[in-house]
Amino acid sequence: MLRAGILLLFSLWAVLSVQAQHRHHGYCGNGEGGEWDAMLTERLLRNKQALEDQPVQFRSTIYVPLRIHMVANSSGFGRVTHAQVLDQLCKLNEDFADMDVQFYIKGLNDNINNNGIYTTQYSAGLVMNNLRDATALNIWIVDVAAGSQPSPGDLGVTLGYYSPTRDWVVIRRDEVNSSSVTLSHEIGHFFSLKHTHNGWDSTPWSPTIGNPAPVNSPGGVPTERQDGSNCNTAGDYICDTPPDYNGFGFNGCNYNIAQDPTGAFINPDEQLFMSYFLNCVRNDYYFSPTQQNLMIADYNSTARNYLRTSAVTPNLTQITSAATPVSPINNDFTPGYNIVNFQWAAVTGADFYLLETDVSAAFNSNPTRVVVSGATSHTMTTLLANRTYYWRVRPYNAYRTCAPFSATAQFRTNNMTVSADNIEELNQWSVFPNPLAEDGRIQVQLQAAQGFEGRFLLYDVAGRMVRSMGSHRISGGYTQLELDAGGLLPGVYTLTLEHENGRELRRITVAK
Ligand SMILES: [Zn+2]
Repeated sequence: MLRAGILLLFSLWAVLSVQAQHRHHGYCGNGEGGEWDAMLTERLLRNKQALEDQPVQFRSTIYVPLRIHMVANSSGFGRVTHAQVLDQLCKLNEDFADMDVQFYIKGLNDNINNNGIYTTQYSAGLVMNNLRDATALNIWIVDVAAGSQPSPGDLGVTLGYYSPTRDWVVIRRDEVNSSSVTLSHEIGHFFSLKHTHNGWDSTPWSPTIGNPAPVNSPGGVPTERQDGSNCNTAGDYICDTPPDYNGFGFNGCNYNIAQDPTGAFINPDEQLFMSYFLNCVRNDYYFSPTQQNLMIADYNSTARNYLRTSAVTPNLTQITSAATPVSPINNDFTPGYNIVNFQWAAVTGADFYLLETDVSAAFNSNPTRVVVSGATSHTMTTLLANRTYYWRVRPYNAYRTCAPFSATAQFRTNNMTVSADNIEELNQWSVFPNPLAEDGRIQVQLQAAQGFEGRFLLYDVAGRMVRSMGSHRISGGYTQLELDAGGLLPGVYTLTLEHENGRELRRITVAK
């Protein structure tokens, strides 16, 4: 569990003196005490033994499937954004690259609206269990991380936790980004690691406790010594992580205030993910070699069968370019506001595109966010009339989530509606060249499932019909025909193909 909060408001000493009166004992249980703590210690020691029996030799990358639950309140508000999740996974894989453990999206649930899960998971275990993916590492992104009912006097804000009984990770939505260390820390717990300050979670060393520190920490775990003489049986039970007595929010990245029971000043490694030092340079955080091996041992344990057997190698294709918006044409009007078709150029490696639209260029008014799978177009039917909209697209696949958004494009809706009915007989059609050549001839290619009678009409951006191009018999199969649009003023037009049961549109540009 990771906490922060009060420490930002008061000095270290104020925090410690308050703590002397109120235990902020683990309401997530990743601190000492309680069932969760005991379970984690037991697993860690078992993994330690397994590591001794059979040292880890990892040569190929491990791919861990993630089920990510993006939870909103019961009204559907306050959900973490897809972009935050993609940024976070990009960083997570960077954090774990050293140890050849990588994560990929097995599933992204972005439709969970539940107040219980959102703020009080301890009361929502049943519904969460039903949604839990039994063959993935489950991550719940919520507003308030609360794995058990808080007690009076609990301090701080829980940023995230791992529940060993439910075997899932819960993290606050405002911790999901590329600068927080919380998710990597919680996944350390998931793979059986304890805090480097194990034993000092609830009552960190303070001047009240005094120097030298007692032989046993307040949590009952033997106090680890600076000289390493008891590192196997004290503190976090790991020998390449130095002693750490900072259970709560030391405000800095150079801790040198506590002495071990022999009187030696301890020198913790503040950059370890499993510490509570939150103020070091973000990219300096790491897992020690033994911590890495213990996590691999945990992955190889029977408890993690469900991850190993379900894991696949995800699409590893790098995504090296951003997407390019194509339609609606930048700064253009759309033919109707009620049905707007978005198109963008395909990006190599992308299996998904995150499409965002909003009336605000900062995408913070009331954005529509859609994940488009396996296509480079999407139709929206919820836009408003007479508004300027901004839109952008971000390509990703289950494993590659680091690509940025495209440049932002914009368009304006008018107040006209267009028919939603597609022509059933028509499989596909296209027009070219576009922009039109000087002769104004439009080539139309059609692929029809069966023959039908269709009429071509041309409209300007204001929705006025500027030319009727007559009725044509479209036969089943492939048809190419030519229309005359000569003599039009430069601008953007809508060519419609109309049929008694439907209508379809294509944009055409007449160049200057
Ligand atoms: Zn923790």
